[in-house]
Amino acid sequence: MLPSLPIPFSFSQSSLQDYTDCARRFELRYIERLAWPAIETEPTLENERRQQAGQAFHRMAQQAIIGLPLEKLEKLATSPELGRWWQNFCEAYPVLGYGKKLFPEISLSAPLGAHRLTAKYDLIAISDEKATIYDWKTSHKRTRTEILSARWQTRVYRYLLVEAGKHLNGGSPFRPENIEMIYWFADFPNESAKFTYNEAQHRLDGELLLKIISEISQSSQFQPIAERETDKKCAFCAYRSYCARGIRAGDWQESENEPDPIPEIVFGNILEIEL
Ligand code: SF4
Repeated sequence: MLPSLPIPFSFSQSSLQDYTDCARRFELRYIERLAWPAIETEPTLENERRQQAGQAFHRMAQQAIIGLPLEKLEKLATSPELGRWWQNFCEAYPVLGYGKKLFPEISLSAPLGAHRLTAKYDLIAISDEKATIYDWKTSHKRTRTEILSARWQTRVYRYLLVEAGKHLNGGSPFRPENIEMIYWFADFPNESAKFTYNEAQHRLDGELLLKIISEISQSSQFQPIAERETDKKCAFCAYRSYCARGIRAGDWQESENEPDPIPEIVFGNILEIEL
């Protein structure tokens, strides 16, 4: 018998994005749990170096936010790239943190249908019942705003803060109009992408999330993407040799995505709010 989706399943922006990009990738990664030892971008060493630098930057940002002195953390910037990101962060930090309650590396979770929706945030900053979600990006290209707007991360993070964030707002759910999300690019500090929110968008996000989760739950066949669509998606997918969609990984310089710097969810760390 083929493995099926566990109930409840913890959906995240990454798993939803995988399903949207390619249903077969979702099946291989989250249902069959197939670990396939292919790298996602070439050259390999450069990819690993970028992953490590991205992780180091996220750690340094978190430590700064919990109060470690910036000048001490600076010693951890051991490459020119990390030094550049750090300098940009230190210049931006007083503005993003001033007068706000800061919640770095916080995870939220809420029920959604028979499943759960989870997210781990780089930072939620709160002031006067208004919340700003920050997501640090260390990609070498500034991801286009239209791509970010369409990504599940933008929907899930804002939606979930309304649904599961009332403990951060004195016990009352945030009004969608009081939430904004900012993607801050370590290499492009003056080109942040900002997304506001509102009640209508929140309702629509809830409907879309229920729809996609119900579709995934009822699926018995997870099709690979059509060949004509494969140019980029398969080239940057770890399963490309398993799917016989090419052996060589895509060149990282062509990708607008960063290697994921943070493990998706630390389950022991999730603050749960039951609806
Ligand atoms: S290689 Fe292509 S078809 Fe196969 S899982 Fe990845 S994106 Fe889907």
